[in-house]
Amino acid sequence: MPEDHTNPTEEHQMLRAMVRDWTKEFVEPQAHVHDTQEKFNLELLRDLGGLGLLGISAPEEYGGSNLDATACVMVHEELSYSDPGFALAFLAHSMLFVNNFAHNANEEQKARILPKVCSGEWIGAMAMSEPDAGTDVLGLSSTATKQVDGSYILNGRKMWITNGCLDDQGTPADVVLVYAKTGEDEHGRVQISTFLVEAGMEGYSVGQKIMDKTGMRASNTAELVFDGCKIPAANLIGEEGQSMVHMMGNLELERLTLAAMSLGIARRCLHEMNQYASDRTAFGQSIREFGQIQKYIGDSWAKYRAMRAYIYDTAYNYQIGCAGQRLDSDGVKLFASVAAKEIADAAIQVMGGYGYVAEYHVERLWRDSKLLEIGGGTLESHQKNITRDLSKSPEVINE
Ligand SMILES: Cc1cc2nc3c(=O)[nH]c(=O)nc-3n(C[C@H](O)[C@H](O)[C@H](O)COP(=O)(O)OP(=O)(O)OC[C@H]3O[C@@H](n4cnc5c(N)ncnc54)[C@H](O)[C@@H]3O)c2cc1C
Repeated sequence: MPEDHTNPTEEHQMLRAMVRDWTKEFVEPQAHVHDTQEKFNLELLRDLGGLGLLGISAPEEYGGSNLDATACVMVHEELSYSDPGFALAFLAHSMLFVNNFAHNANEEQKARILPKVCSGEWIGAMAMSEPDAGTDVLGLSSTATKQVDGSYILNGRKMWITNGCLDDQGTPADVVLVYAKTGEDEHGRVQISTFLVEAGMEGYSVGQKIMDKTGMRASNTAELVFDGCKIPAANLIGEEGQSMVHMMGNLELERLTLAAMSLGIARRCLHEMNQYASDRTAFGQSIREFGQIQKYIGDSWAKYRAMRAYIYDTAYNYQIGCAGQRLDSDGVKLFASVAAKEIADAAIQVMGGYGYVAEYHVERLWRDSKLLEIGGGTLESHQKNITRDLSKSPEVINE
């Protein structure tokens, strides 16, 4: 039998079943209220540590589960089916912090930090974006200046940081990976380094919790401030000036798992519109008998199946910890984020007025889906990257 890339092994099947059951029992019932109240469910995120999912791709010796990209995709898809906002908080912790750290930190740093973030005792975030620099990553203005004792002084502001604050009182993330400028090379190119900032370090604080987001309201988004923040030499991750590799490698896994979140949204919306089209009658017949309704459902099914195949095929071939897999990590996010938003939109249309209110979930998923066209790279950045990569390697088109 040909291998099913969606559930390639028995372990993957068991993982999917476990996360699906857990999501139904614990994530689904709290999704609506956390969206309405713009509240992050910190305790529920910590519970994922007990399931071995907070360090899903981290080494087992430090409390991780050492699972592959397919497993990462599955978990994001399943959580997002019920609550994309909660799934985004999970992604920021497990992919943007833990996975990045696990692949770029030294052994001393891993032994010190990983057990705490894999268990959920500490919650992590990754701070790349700034108030004046998003897509233009090299345009960042945060700086870290090396002191004579080897420590660094970090100054700057970071914007839009998921898990940047843990509550409404401005409690900052326990640990954050922060990218900052540490100099220029001989050609005048900006050099970026990665720093581990820990709660309690002087000069590290939350500027604001960002409120009134369109969607993903169950995740906290914050501005972080670094004001003369002293970072010990032991908290430099990797070599000074070498962080473009960390950043780019991690962005690829981020894009793949954000695409997986789109897949969860698409599957849920398809499920809801299909059910509703059977239950609802108009003019004496089920609305699924109407050709225009059939177009919404038929087109959504085809898009859902296409995104599912592309995402799981990419995950199957994806090597965690290796950079250079951008063509398809950008490709899946470009395709899946747009498709999910279109499917959510179709679901609202099929459900009429009921689709427009919270009870049937799809209006929340429609709002959440929009973020996936922006966060982790905008649609335009994916289009640019793909076009650039295809100019360098046109042979992949005919492979
Ligand atoms: C809810 C949320 C959570 C987030 N979480 C995090 C996080 O945890 N960590 C983090 O570091 N960041 C995070 N971000 C930031 C996110 O990654 C950025 O918003 C995104 O990269 C876009 O950057 P920007 O908002 O500065 O837009 P800009 O880069 O200013 O873009 C504005 C517009 O210009 C377009 N544009 C820019 N450059 C080009 C170009 N060269 N060619 C064509 N068009 C271009 C863009 O595509 C976009 O349409 C988050 C954002 C949100 C909204």
